[in-house]
Amino acid sequence: MITFNLYAIPPMISFALIAGMGAFVYLRDPRSRLYRTFALSCLTLAWWLFGFINMYLSWDPARALAWSRLALYGVVFIPATMYHFILTLLNLKHPRRLTFLYIAGLATLPLGQTPLVYKAIRTGFWGFYPVAGPFYFLCPLTFVLAFVGTVLLVYRAWHKEHDIQRRRQLTYVLFAQACATPGIVDYLAKYGVPVYPFGYLDALGWIGWLMYAIVRHHLMDIRVIITRTGVLMVTYLIVLGGPFLLGWWGQPWLQVHLGSQWWLGPVGLSSILATMGPFTYAYLRRQSEQLLLHRLEEKEAEATYDALTGLLVRRALMSRAAAMLQRARVHHTPCSVLMLDLDHFKHANDTYGHLVGDAVLREVAARLTASLRTHDLAGRFGGEEFVFVLEGTARQQAVQIAERLCQLVARDPVQVNGHLLSQTISIGIATHPENGATFEALLAQADQALYAAKRAGRNRVRIAASTASTPESSHAAH
Ligand code: GH3
Ligand code: MG
Ligand code: MG
Repeated sequence: MITFNLYAIPPMISFALIAGMGAFVYLRDPRSRLYRTFALSCLTLAWWLFGFINMYLSWDPARALAWSRLALYGVVFIPATMYHFILTLLNLKHPRRLTFLYIAGLATLPLGQTPLVYKAIRTGFWGFYPVAGPFYFLCPLTFVLAFVGTVLLVYRAWHKEHDIQRRRQLTYVLFAQACATPGIVDYLAKYGVPVYPFGYLDALGWIGWLMYAIVRHHLMDIRVIITRTGVLMVTYLIVLGGPFLLGWWGQPWLQVHLGSQWWLGPVGLSSILATMGPFTYAYLRRQSEQLLLHRLEEKEAEATYDALTGLLVRRALMSRAAAMLQRARVHHTPCSVLMLDLDHFKHANDTYGHLVGDAVLREVAARLTASLRTHDLAGRFGGEEFVFVLEGTARQQAVQIAERLCQLVARDPVQVNGHLLSQTISIGIATHPENGATFEALLAQADQALYAAKRAGRNRVRIAASTASTPESSHAAH
């Protein structure tokens, strides 16, 4: 009775994951050297796995031998491509070692189809297995050199690395390489050592650790899972590939159970998968779009808000303020620009250090913005300079607000790491329409006023002298 060899399942899972990840990474950016070398490693591993799965599932030794020899095309290049991938990942160059590994692979290749490498097939408790010929030693030799080499290289890089994120990535790459190294028992099995060739499980460990590093620690930016092509590809690979593989590998087993109706197996599976396909695709696509959207929002927030104070960055402030002034001109409403600067801030930095300085900046920014209205604009204009734009706020009102802001900062000292720091600010004000009709014009005036406030002794408010805009200038700016 022919039964399905269950030992073929681990290599099948490894094959699917490795081939899938290789394709994903490659498609993400075929120009990236790192992605290309990773995909190449995956290709050689997948080739080996595919050949050996078929060898396991063969029903006669001649066929098994042919599959095992076909697998060699992948096997002989695993050490070289793996070493290549790790060198690229670590930004290292060892051209001689790499060339040696590739040449060793190439040299083994023509021998691979002769009995010099695999001389026969035998049967272990797990199924068919090839017997090593006199030149087979080249395979384990290069494997040991390459894998022990990669473990050492990654360990050294990990040891020297200071960046936390990168160090975490390397930790899992180290696990992956270390996990793959015991795959050497695979080679022993071919010399008749009675061990289950668990290199397949090793391959699973290798790709598993790398996937973890990719997903959790951004080892490679393969969020393709979230792009449409990726989703489409996976769905169709499953829908089309599943029934195909069932027919390809499962035929003998299906024939035993279903007789001449064996084809009902793959056809039935394909009907089920084809029905589920569109739903799965729609679901995955929605998930992926949400992820993409979320990332975009994150990126936008990063570009809009200052990381230290949470205020608008200069560029975002400029464009929003320009729009606000445009509205003010159209509706003939007042608008005030406040330019604020921390007094003697260099002194605080020099005395307590920049970290304390940062904490003061954050606290001052928080105090200042807490009292603003939601539609007011607050931006960090320079190092310790802020610009506020208050819509619908006329001169007199702006002066009151600015004075309140000065008091808010000066009233209570800022407490940082047990230090009490007295901090004050100076503010210059310019208003529409008295000082100009564009944001740039108002900003220049507010800056002048700020200098005046500094000169007058700091911790105070100064207002720009009125230059009453002409009707032409406010019209010209529309
Ligand atoms: P003045 O009253 O004339 O404004 O005196 P000042 O010392 O504040 O002089 P100025 O505004 O020219 O100096 C700005 C200082 O602010 C220089 C720099 O050390 C500090 N600074 C700028 N950006 C940051 C920052 O992001 N963090 C910290 N800690 N300090 C900053
Ligand atoms: Mg200052
Ligand atoms: Mg300054």
